[in-house]
Amino acid sequence: MLRIVMKFGGTSMAGIERIRHVANLVKREAERGNQVAVVVSAMAGETDRLVQLCREAASLYDPREYDVVVASGEQVTSGLLAITLQGMGLNARSYMGWQLPIRTTAAHASALIDGIDVDVLERVFGESGIAVIPGFQGVAADGSVATLGRGGSDTSAVALAAAMKADRCDIYTDVDGVYTTDPRIVPRARKLSAITYEEMLELASVGAKVLQTRSVGLAMRYNMPIQVLSSFEDRPGTMVVGDDRIEDYKMERQLITGIAYDKNEARITLTGVPDRPGSVAAIFAPLAEANVNVDMIVQSVPRAGERSDLTFTVPTASLAHSKALLEGVREEVGFQEILTDTDVVKVSAVGVGMRSNAGIAAQMFKALAGRGINIIAITTSEIKVSVLIPEEYTELAVRVLHTTYGLDAEAAE
Ligand code: ASP
Ligand code: MG
Repeated sequence: MLRIVMKFGGTSMAGIERIRHVANLVKREAERGNQVAVVVSAMAGETDRLVQLCREAASLYDPREYDVVVASGEQVTSGLLAITLQGMGLNARSYMGWQLPIRTTAAHASALIDGIDVDVLERVFGESGIAVIPGFQGVAADGSVATLGRGGSDTSAVALAAAMKADRCDIYTDVDGVYTTDPRIVPRARKLSAITYEEMLELASVGAKVLQTRSVGLAMRYNMPIQVLSSFEDRPGTMVVGDDRIEDYKMERQLITGIAYDKNEARITLTGVPDRPGSVAAIFAPLAEANVNVDMIVQSVPRAGERSDLTFTVPTASLAHSKALLEGVREEVGFQEILTDTDVVKVSAVGVGMRSNAGIAAQMFKALAGRGINIIAITTSEIKVSVLIPEEYTELAVRVLHTTYGLDAEAAE
């Protein structure tokens, strides 16, 4: 007997027919003799609709009341799933966040989970029941409903799995797993049988958005295995697990696990930055204060005392603001120009295998050079190499790297 959390996203819950399908998947799992708690999202589009209604009601709305409104989407789907399961003769019941309870901070609209009481669940399992729990919501210490921030149901599911010491958290979604890269760009992208938490975090942060990043961080902390799978196709998905368990799912380790890209970066170059202590600190301080997420940073001083250029990237949405902040320190720091470019893309190769293998970066540079692709900036971490290149080469670069690292499927599926 296994203890499993099954989480269904908005597309899986969109309408009675789909909810009936979900109920069948839950039934099958229960009939295997497993203890099942189900976490559900609101129907696709519903949370957007509710957010919009709040905005129409008042442009400056009270976050506490916003939570009352947006948490309702999940209340509806959990009730409907419980009704459907009961209709199939199963002993199912829904429990809202405040009923379990799922205790959260009072930061309305972006609450953090403090803890989950599992007494109710233990009783349900003891009676061979199925618990249906709305994702995204919990209850603050003052008794008010609180939500976790958009996409928060994944986090609810993983937190619940950790609290009830589940064997696995299955996240059913509209894709059938995590791929080596974006299949729209590389038709020969392969579905991964398994990936580590760390790799998943890197791939998510660079653009592969299958799971909410926060939920992966949480799973890593509790070493909770996640399975990402499709609710529409009946086949195994991708296991997201710790380094210690990856070998259970993958016989052979590939050096590189995936190639990601992120077009949402803009480049800033400051020319003629004086070479003296404090220059760089004075440049980045106002950006940090404004919470601008600076990513790649490249600087090299040709000879001590000589001026240099400083290149870095910020999210495209923060570019205008960043430029204004930099103008503000130009005189103080004494740099010359501020050059910007939004036609860039960050392409990354990610893989824990990199730790024990030299030459991964060199291979990347050679492959890109072979296609005449110019590299503007480079960053590396223990398990990632990223390059900034002109945006027009996105597809070409991703394809070439996918082939270079041996990730292409034998034949397009
Ligand atoms: N329904 C919420 C949202 O759309 C939470 C979720 O589905 O994860 O953001
Ligand atoms: Mg989601």
